[in-house]
Amino acid sequence: MITLALAKGRIFEETAPLLAAAGIRPVEDPESSRKLILATQRPDLRLILVRAADVPTYVQYGAADLGVAGRDILAEHGGQGLYQPLDLGIARCRMVVAVPEGFDYAAAVKQGARLRVATKYIGTAREHFAAKGVHVDLIKLYGSMELAPLVGLADAIVDLVDTGNTLKANRLRVVEEIMPVSSRLIVNPASLKLKREALAPLIEAFARLGRG
Ligand code: AMP
Repeated sequence: MITLALAKGRIFEETAPLLAAAGIRPVEDPESSRKLILATQRPDLRLILVRAADVPTYVQYGAADLGVAGRDILAEHGGQGLYQPLDLGIARCRMVVAVPEGFDYAAAVKQGARLRVATKYIGTAREHFAAKGVHVDLIKLYGSMELAPLVGLADAIVDLVDTGNTLKANRLRVVEEIMPVSSRLIVNPASLKLKREALAPLIEAFARLGRG
């Protein structure tokens, strides 16, 4: 049995066509089903649905043989114990530093001010600001980071931006880009050795389809 870990939402939606092209279709619609383990038309392959941030953990410990995870999640996880053979080029966005439109970020940094930054990506943000020599106090949030500067919780946020509409709607602007983000295929190294015959064709199919 091959187990593939996916997160619902954008990653699932953009991975589904790749799976379909590789001949893999879940037998139930994951968006409406409450099941966490989904059978597919391939009797030797099942999907598990987990939180995006948990995908690397399931694959690292071998509870899933492979998975699809964003570069943002992998940077935060650290990537240890994971083989990352492919950038699938899906769920593209950017991880950025954003501030309220009226906040002079450059001046604050120049003055050596200590900034409060709200984010879900504590590790990645810490590394980014340390490399730039910017002093920050990081505040951990689990979602809706855009709200934090509007209500005085933080001076800045580290978050993902796609179209920029969410930032614009909340009168925030990008001041630094941390990294471009897209989703990658991740594989458990032991699975790759033990199940190579089953996994290799699947990885090859993803490689052919991933970048269109
Ligand atoms: P947008 O308004 O298109 O810039 O989208 C921004 C919102 O969508 C933010 O709340 C982001 O956290 C979220 N977002 C954008 N792209 C992604 C992605 N690839 N994966 C997960 N969340 C995303």
